[in-house]
Amino acid sequence: MSSSNPTTDPARIVIAVDGTSGSGKSSTSRGVADRLGMRYLDTGAMYRAMTWWMLSNDIDVHDADAVAAAAGKPVITSGTDPLGPTIALDGADVSVEIRSDRVNAAVSPVATVREVRARLIALQQQEIEQALAAGSGIVVEGRDIGTAVWPAAELKLYVTADPAARAARRAAEEGGSDAEAVRASLENRDKIDSTKGGAAVPEGAIHVDTTPYTLDEVIESVVELVETAVRATAEKAGE
Ligand code: C5P
Repeated sequence: MSSSNPTTDPARIVIAVDGTSGSGKSSTSRGVADRLGMRYLDTGAMYRAMTWWMLSNDIDVHDADAVAAAAGKPVITSGTDPLGPTIALDGADVSVEIRSDRVNAAVSPVATVREVRARLIALQQQEIEQALAAGSGIVVEGRDIGTAVWPAAELKLYVTADPAARAARRAAEEGGSDAEAVRASLENRDKIDSTKGGAAVPEGAIHVDTTPYTLDEVIESVVELVETAVRATAEKAGE
């Protein structure tokens, strides 16, 4: 292959971005994918869509057996354009519904059900395989990407921010919701996710603490990390 300039050529690698909600990981992932011509997969949106399906079909989200029995039913489709990611459930766009308070409150219990995780992880792996087969790189954002979904990712990040910064950002994203209430909801989800979900710091992940930085600064430093990872991958492949 010709020598490439990774800042303008698409980076044909998988970037696993794990971390907590409100840490800036979504905006960072989208920004990096856009800068580098990569696809973007929001796995949290898939867990949220699964949860919305359960709520819409009157399944008790605290009844793990009922959730497990239904986990194979919803058809979840992700649009992977970083400038306009979409999520559809049985063919209908649910981008707005999945951000509702009802889903915020129900998503963690649903995400702890083994059958839900197995199904969504398989879908996420398919999405990554399709991107690579099409010659595209992909930034995949979630909680277990570097550990369970794609441990072979060329670059693994673990993105955090301090709790007040996370709550303020999430409240702003949600159109000015009460930051204290948002903080309580985030902490509650973190607690369930870290005790029962698949969340963990992946081996070899680079820790990115976004607290003191602007989004542009974080994107810039991640782009530099990607360039290093692309070079390392090319050298390993003997290019
Ligand atoms: O990232 P976001 O806040 O949208 O994720 C919503 C929820 O989905 C998380 O709180 C977690 O319970 C679940 N999730 C997960 N594994 C992922 C992504 C999200 O369990 N890879």
